[in-house]
This record gives sequence, C-alpha cells and structure tokens, in this order.
Amino acid sequence: MSGQEAPKKKVSDMKRLWGMSIDLDKCTGCGACQVACSQENNMPIFEDDSDLPKRVVFLDLMKVTNEMDKGAKFGDVKVAYLPKMCMQCAGNDPDNPYPPCVSVCPVVATDIGDDGVVSQIWSRCIGCRYCQASCPYEARVFHWWKPVYEGSFKEGLNPDVSVSSRGAVVKCTFCSHIWKRERDRMIAKGITDINAVQYTPSCVSSCPTGAMKFGDLKDPRSPVYEEKLRRDPRAVRLVHSIDELRDTNPAEYDRRMKIKQFPNPKVWYLTGSEWLRKKLSVFEKS
Ligand code: SF4
Ligand code: SF4
Repeated sequence: MSGQEAPKKKVSDMKRLWGMSIDLDKCTGCGACQVACSQENNMPIFEDDSDLPKRVVFLDLMKVTNEMDKGAKFGDVKVAYLPKMCMQCAGNDPDNPYPPCVSVCPVVATDIGDDGVVSQIWSRCIGCRYCQASCPYEARVFHWWKPVYEGSFKEGLNPDVSVSSRGAVVKCTFCSHIWKRERDRMIAKGITDINAVQYTPSCVSSCPTGAMKFGDLKDPRSPVYEEKLRRDPRAVRLVHSIDELRDTNPAEYDRRMKIKQFPNPKVWYLTGSEWLRKKLSVFEKS
C-alpha cells in the first residue's frame, strides 16, 4: 500500500432551483408553520403579542379580508390567511441578476446561490439595513434587542443555525441548513450528485393540511414545477398582474421589466377565490 489517499470525487454542479407554492384555499391560519419556522431557526417564541418590537419572525401569517372594500356588504365578509416570508426573488435584470436585497448589501452578508436560495449570514451582517429598505415584501427583520431564549426553548436550540445577535438583519432562507445537512450526509456516504439531495423546509413539513409544497421549479415531476404553475389559473404571485401582461401587453411587460419593477419571486400562491387573487396583485392592471 502506498498510503496515498484516493482522489476525491468531484461533487456535481447544482441544477436545482428551489421554490414553494402555498394553497390559500387549504390554509386554516393555524400558525403551525410559523411556530415550526421560529423553532427551526432559533428565533425566540413569545407567548403573546404584548412585546411586539422584540418579536422576530421570518414567516408572517397575514389575515386578508374584503371587509373594507368599497361596496362590501354586511354578511358578505370573506377572510383568508396568507403565510408570507422571503419570496426568494430571482431578480429581473439580465445585467444584474440579483434580488433587490443582494444588490445593495455592502458586505455580502446576503447572496443568491446556484439553487436560487437567497442566503442570510447573521454573523457577517453589519446592521446597515440597506437590504431591509430595498426589500419590496418587508421580509427582513432587524434585531433591535439581543434574542433571549427561555425555558425549554433554550434546551431545544438548533445546532445547525447560529443564534442571531443584536444589530443583525435576519430572514427566511428556505431552511437551507437542512439541505446542507442532507448534502453532507450523502457526500459522507460517497454520493456526490448533489442534485439527488431532497429536503423539505420546516414550515412545509409542519403544515397539517398540506397547503405548502416545496421542490424544484425546473423539474416536471416536482409539485412546484414552474411551467405548470404559470398555466394554473389558480396560481398567483404577489406581482400577479405583471405576469398576465406577458401575454396581453408585451410592450408594457417589457417596460416594467426594464425599470426593475419585478422582483421575480420563487414563492407562488394558489387560490380559486377571485377577490383574493385581486388583493394579492401588487400592480394595477393596465
Ligand atoms: S400550518 Fe398550513 S394551514 Fe396552518 S397556517 Fe401554516 S400553511 Fe396554513
Ligand atoms: S423578498 Fe426581500 S429579502 Fe427576500 S429575496 Fe426578495 S428582496 Fe431579498
């Protein structure tokens, strides 16, 4: 035996593009996704909302209603719940293919990976909050106070996620640490095709109604295959009406793309309710 180590096998390049869909007609607003997210990402859970400024969540559970609409009548009120986190924007500018937040971060504390996931490294963040100002979805949260972990939560801290500190911006990363853990397990077994690594973010695994789906936007076998979502009449992104313009008014679509009004999110919502679809449209229809 020469004692030489066997050459390391090359790990394959990433071909996946992770994305999510959330069926709002299945969401009951139970909040299990929000609790699971905070526990997974070491964000303290508060018993109530009495200390709101200290409450840091990556996943907002928003209540949407038509009750304030013009002409809304008593007895005709509708309510839906909308889990909202970082939309994992893909950006729209071929010369600068970055999400708004990544474009402005001066220290690369946030970046976009080959798999489309927009990362956030708390320990590298200098707290300038440029990213927070640039995010069109208010998906980023600034830690004004040092997080305090109490009771059984402290004992259950996740060793795969660093605890945040005062003065850092945090946000959802599609639980990319779970993917990294699964990847490392596979590589340790000698499997070097990282595209074979599957994972599920904590919010998706915790949803009791199966409202949240996660997968590869480019894979036709995935529950979130993007080409299929684009054709689904129930599908809407938070920039829905600009998507429609692609077919109905290409010149206006191009104009808006050029002026960077389209962050190109990788989170899709599904609903058959017309009133809700209209509410989710950020841009006015032309
Ligand atoms: S756990 Fe599922 S049903 Fe409950 S709020 Fe989250 S997405 Fe909706
Ligand atoms: S939603 Fe905000 S934080 Fe998330 S990628 Fe887009 S700009 Fe960045």
